[in-house]
Amino acid sequence: SPLFSAIEMAPRDPILGITEAFNADQNPAKVNLGVGVYYDDNGKVPLLECVKKAEAILMEKFAPRTYLPIEGLAAYDKAVQELVFGADSDVVKEKRAITAQAIGGTGALKLGADFLQRFTPNSEVWISDPSWENHRALFESAGFKVNSYPYYDAATRGVNFAGMLDALKAMPEGSIVLLHACCHNPTGADLSDDQWTEVIAVVAQRNLIPFLDMAYQGFGDGIEADGKVVRRFAEAGGALFVSNSFSKSFSLYGERVGALSIAASSAEEAARIMSQLKRVIRTNYSNPPTHGGQVVATVLATPELRQLWEEELAGMRVRIREMRTAFVSMLKEKAPGHDFDFVIQQRGMFSYSGLTKEQVGKLRDNNSIYAVDTGRICVAALNNKNINNVIEAITQVL
Ligand code: PLP
Repeated sequence: SPLFSAIEMAPRDPILGITEAFNADQNPAKVNLGVGVYYDDNGKVPLLECVKKAEAILMEKFAPRTYLPIEGLAAYDKAVQELVFGADSDVVKEKRAITAQAIGGTGALKLGADFLQRFTPNSEVWISDPSWENHRALFESAGFKVNSYPYYDAATRGVNFAGMLDALKAMPEGSIVLLHACCHNPTGADLSDDQWTEVIAVVAQRNLIPFLDMAYQGFGDGIEADGKVVRRFAEAGGALFVSNSFSKSFSLYGERVGALSIAASSAEEAARIMSQLKRVIRTNYSNPPTHGGQVVATVLATPELRQLWEEELAGMRVRIREMRTAFVSMLKEKAPGHDFDFVIQQRGMFSYSGLTKEQVGKLRDNNSIYAVDTGRICVAALNNKNINNVIEAITQVL
């Protein structure tokens, strides 16, 4: 048909392309540092004990699979809202927050984007430079013009905070600012508490609309510490959008569990917002799936399982930290002229390693070690078995 013959091939997803090349590689010593997934020390995606136990409880019930409400399982939405804002926060106690179950963190972002497009179509969106590779395309596909604000400073391997703040100060009122709540993807470079204080003040002064993306709560400094920035924004008042994901923190990637929360200034306003958000959901996919939400709700609402989850999540966080420390100390020994100390300061699963595109190419061609061309490596893909090879190979390309 002429309709189809005019369609061009879309560009390949660069990160999924790495995994395809990795899968086709026959070298038994191959390592994929290009992924965005947590692997345990055996190189496996874990199935958490808390998830197994929650699934056993759910299995025994043999509950019928009716439709969930449009906004998702009530117990899930409540537990997530309390996790995101804090159960004792004013927004929760005053019923000024709404939370809707979403199809992963991506689905939460898309719900927020579609909602904002309905009510503030002329606002422009600002994302960090660089950002998660899907942010731009996602907001563009919702109809927004997407700009970027300075973020990563290659020279200091940290945040170009002055540049970021200047950009925030120059944004038109009502601009939508996408911020990574913790564990910045792809750089691993986060703002300090004091820097957040300044960002929160500018966002309020300039009437910007903050949209916090929290895909890694618990991977930085802990569940509470990582979530603090959301609470601080909520306390500052004003409109606030928060997308969160349990893909990583529950190791439930394929179950697609996330949520969109919005903080409003009154319970009455929140009710109006929820009624409109439900229309967005209804016209997209009607209502979310049951299983993942039930698992997470069961874990969060059952004290022993919640305790277990917090321990297992801490285990993942600590293991990544250990790999950061090992990476730095091994390189210090093997390549003494090079400073990788910044890798310890970075947070979450990723590190902008400082490796160039050329070096990444050599690692792939000579050693079957796969990383993203930008030098992003997934620290959570390192383990005690592969780290020696990785360090040896990096030493050769430096
Ligand atoms: N936001 C960021 C910053 C991410 O890194 C990711 C996943 O890698 C997501 C959102 C999407 O999360 P999900 O896989 O739950 O859709």
